[in-house]
Amino acid sequence: MIFLLLSLFAFFSPIQAVESPAPLIVLDPGHGGSADGAKIFPVMEKRIALFTAVRTKKALEELGYRVFLTRSRDRFVDLDERVAMANRVDAALFVSIHFNSAPNPAAHGIEVYYFNEKTSQRTKASKQLAIEVLKATTRNTSAFPRGARPGNFYVVRETKKMPAILFEGGFLTNEPERNKLADKKYLKSLAQGIAEGIHSYFENAPKY
Ligand SMILES: [Zn+2]
Repeated sequence: MIFLLLSLFAFFSPIQAVESPAPLIVLDPGHGGSADGAKIFPVMEKRIALFTAVRTKKALEELGYRVFLTRSRDRFVDLDERVAMANRVDAALFVSIHFNSAPNPAAHGIEVYYFNEKTSQRTKASKQLAIEVLKATTRNTSAFPRGARPGNFYVVRETKKMPAILFEGGFLTNEPERNKLADKKYLKSLAQGIAEGIHSYFENAPKY
């Protein structure tokens, strides 16, 4: 009977939660403390990165994942410390969360970076993760998909033991997008998209 109830529950739940032991995801809100990142009033990258990461954590935990944040408040964290944390907790994935700026005020949309080591399995997995997160976040927000791209960022290059991406959730330098990023509801749908992208990665991608 219990079994029947459990299977009914599984059947009716819209997205099936992961089995235990759940993979541990490291979320890395960019900047913090003395490092503001991009800022154009009223939006500050370090703040919206933290807010988005905290909401992503909540969404992932609802799906059954375990989550570790490299910072959970407004404090400065060195890049090598962020990488060391991810290695120490033996994370399944590393996702750094940032927001963009560009000299051209027309530039807008979401881009997701992975480190390209050419033949490595980690590159394949990271690229797949980048594609899934781009797909889910642009679907949830209608933001423009700029692409899943190779990029040489310290935190995704040096987290050598796990697939890793750096998510750029939109441009502060584009006024319409900046207005959206100032809205917590928008950041929540972005966060929901990051969580859904991670979940699709685990459901679809070959195990790394
Ligand atoms: Zn940044």
